[in-house]
Amino acid sequence: METIFDAAIIGGGVTGAAAAYRLTHCRLKVALLEKENDVCRGVSKANSGIVHGGFHYSAEKTLKGRLEVRGNQMFDELSEELHFPFQRCGILVVAYLQEQLETVRQLYQQGLANHVPGIELCSKERILELEPKLPDSVCGGLYAPGGGVVEPYSLVFAMIHAAELNDLVLQKNFRAASGIWTGKYWEITASDGRSLRARNVINAAGLFADEVSRAFGAEEFRILPRKGEEYLLDRQSPARPSKVIFPVPSPHSKGVLVIPTAGGTTMIGPTAEIVEDKLDTGTSEENRTVTFARARTMVSGISERDLITSFSGCRPVLEGKEDFYIDLSRKIPHFIQAAGIQSPGLTAAPAVAERIEQLLKETGLALLKKEKFILPKSTPSLREMDAKTADRFHDLDPEWTNIICRCEKVSEAEIRRAIRQGHTTIDGIKLATRAGMGRCQGGFCTLKIMHILADECRIPLEEVLKREKDSRIAVGRIGDTREEQNR
Ligand SMILES: Cc1cc2nc3c(=O)[nH]c(=O)nc-3n(C[C@H](O)[C@H](O)[C@H](O)COP(=O)(O)OP(=O)(O)OC[C@H]3O[C@@H](n4cnc5c(N)ncnc54)[C@H](O)[C@@H]3O)c2cc1C
Repeated sequence: METIFDAAIIGGGVTGAAAAYRLTHCRLKVALLEKENDVCRGVSKANSGIVHGGFHYSAEKTLKGRLEVRGNQMFDELSEELHFPFQRCGILVVAYLQEQLETVRQLYQQGLANHVPGIELCSKERILELEPKLPDSVCGGLYAPGGGVVEPYSLVFAMIHAAELNDLVLQKNFRAASGIWTGKYWEITASDGRSLRARNVINAAGLFADEVSRAFGAEEFRILPRKGEEYLLDRQSPARPSKVIFPVPSPHSKGVLVIPTAGGTTMIGPTAEIVEDKLDTGTSEENRTVTFARARTMVSGISERDLITSFSGCRPVLEGKEDFYIDLSRKIPHFIQAAGIQSPGLTAAPAVAERIEQLLKETGLALLKKEKFILPKSTPSLREMDAKTADRFHDLDPEWTNIICRCEKVSEAEIRRAIRQGHTTIDGIKLATRAGMGRCQGGFCTLKIMHILADECRIPLEEVLKREKDSRIAVGRIGDTREEQNR
């Protein structure tokens, strides 16, 4: 008999991953459906990686404000359970002009009202003491010690791998195209004709949540992509601050930030611009110039010389409402909307999942906790090993000291482990291991990784994909091409 899942989550970004992690703690049959050939392919892979401090929005007046504060609190326990890179390095909002101090005071009052722990209004002397890389011209600011940074893809992968250890059924390449309510359950059909049954559906489809809602006959709304460009500086950049540096926000944006990423690099960005195309991930020279010019006035030592790459992501913004939309559908049964998850969606994700669980309870679903939830073991990485430990790992398996990515110090053993966990493209491996994320941006390691992928997946080199279907890197062998030319 075909399985009827208790819950099918549509979308393998941070929202879907957090929901999957939370729901697999209960005695439920849970499926996660992702349209791409790997999870974390949407906005969850292309953001600033900040665990926000809980003072930018009112927790009383906005859902995103409430869930940001709660989500932030949940990160310590989550990172202890799942071992992803996370540091509570603290956040500074810096006033560079006297007239910005009033807005800083308002943010401080909002932080107090939101019960943000340890939030502090800072004089010029205090803020320079907290971050000596700020220019001497600063006027003061705000300090939120509980803000931090997280490696977003590691968070998503860790939650999904843990959920899989606890019986999550993950279906990749499953683009939920339609849903029919039979009276007892949803019959969900993918664009390739596959189908799956579930008593409850959770729409966590990010930029495409409006299309999924429509395909199931639920509420009509529009998701507008608001693009943000980010610029990544080399590990060696002297500009890396010890805390996340925010300017004083405008009514529409938190502004350009200087971020000491959880991966050890420095990032500047994001920009904020409504675009037409949800898949627009380009960056422009004009925005780069403006972003660097702003960041240079914020922190000493920022230089375009240290730029190693740029990328962008689109925030899924609900048209006409600058807030999350997380609720039971009022139009169709057993359907939960988790839409409009723009910033601070990464921070809020664990709390969004808590809310989804609450909504599921309201549908009458029994949420009994499993007696035993299996937590993943911490996975070693060569980058973090001292020489003695690396030698010990080498004795167990020489692949541990065969370094494939020199910039980020990633071994063959880690690449093979990532492939066995289901990351079977160059970009999937990059996000899972950091191989190719360093100074040379994959210049030296891509071919080596392609060979390992071909070996592990038992496919010819020409079939190795960069990312999505048809994104082949090699078109043929040089010998073959020459023969063709000679023909
Ligand atoms: C530039 C930028 C910087 C940001 N910085 C921060 C930050 O520092 N801190 C913070 O808290 N937040 C930040 N955010 C916001 C945060 O990244 C998002 O709120 C969050 O990642 C949203 O996650 P999601 O899972 O809802 O969406 P996504 O990650 O987009 O996931 C949705 C998934 O659904 C899949 N999908 C879509 N349609 C279907 C379908 N029909 N069937 C199956 N699967 C489908 C997609 O492929 C995708 O994998 C930032 C956003 C941007 C753009």
